[in-house]
Amino acid sequence: MRIANLDGRLVLLTEDGAVDVERASGQRFSADPHAVYARWDEFASWAADAPVTGAEAFDEAGLRAPSPTPAQVFGVGLNYRDHAAEAGLGLPGSPAVFTKFPSCLTGPYGEVALTGSTVDWEVELVAVIGREARNVPAEHGWDHVAGLTAGQDLSDRAVQLAGPAPQFSLGKSAPGFGPTGPWLVTSDEFADRDNLELGCAVNGESVQKGRTSDLIFSVPELVARLSAILPLLTGDVIFTGTPSGVGMARSPQRFLAAGDDLVTTIEGIGTMRHRFTEEPS
Ligand code: ZN
Repeated sequence: MRIANLDGRLVLLTEDGAVDVERASGQRFSADPHAVYARWDEFASWAADAPVTGAEAFDEAGLRAPSPTPAQVFGVGLNYRDHAAEAGLGLPGSPAVFTKFPSCLTGPYGEVALTGSTVDWEVELVAVIGREARNVPAEHGWDHVAGLTAGQDLSDRAVQLAGPAPQFSLGKSAPGFGPTGPWLVTSDEFADRDNLELGCAVNGESVQKGRTSDLIFSVPELVARLSAILPLLTGDVIFTGTPSGVGMARSPQRFLAAGDDLVTTIEGIGTMRHRFTEEPS
C-alpha cells in the first residue's frame, strides 16, 4: 500500500491515481495525514478491502511530507560503516541519536534556502511509526512501522560542528532541511525491506549510493533501541542514517550552492527533487 499527503489531505495511491481517504471512507478516516497513524491497523485493513474507485490523476507538485506533524523526529548518526569511516569516527556501540525539530519537515519537491556555505546532503531511509512502541524487541520492530519513505537529512556543517561539542539537532533543523516523500510505502511492498538501494545526485552527478542492508542498526533494531529509552508514538519519524559520500568528507570538500539540483532516490519508494536558493537576506 502507498499513501501520500496531497495538498494536506490523506490519499491512498492506486495505479489510477489518488483516492481521497476521507471521502472514500465516508468520513470514517480523517483527511489529516497525521491522524491516520494513530489508527494504522484499522486503516490498513480498511484500505486492503476498500473499493479502488474514485482514483483521480493528480499533480505530484502537490505532494507534501507523508508524516507532516510528528511529535518526535529521530536522526541517527554514523549508522553506516563507510560513513563512520569517512567521518574519521569509530563505529557506535549504540545508536548516535539527535533530533530534527519537526518544523524542518517538508515534502518531496521544491526549493530549499541555503543557510550558509556549508550545507550538505545526506540521503536516508525514513521510517514512520504506525503502532506505539515501548520496550519492543528487535524481532517485533517492523510490526511498529507503518511504512518507509525517502528523506534528506540536510545539514549545515558549520552550525552542526560549532561549539565545544557538536550540536547536530540545530545544524539539521533549518527550515526545509527535512524533506521526506514522495509517499509512504508499506514494508510488504518490498522484495526485501532490509535491503534497499539509496542514493542522491547533485546536478546529475551521483554523490551517494548505498544499500540499507549495510545499516549498523537496522530499522527494527532502531525501534528496539529507541523504544527501550522512550515511547515511540504513532506518526513519529526516524531518519535512519546516511551512507558515505557526503560533501564534508570529500577532498576537496563540496557543499550545496544556489542553483544546485538535488535528486534523492530509494529503490521501491521513489524520487525527490529539490533546488537550492540563496540565503534569505
Ligand atoms: Zn543523517
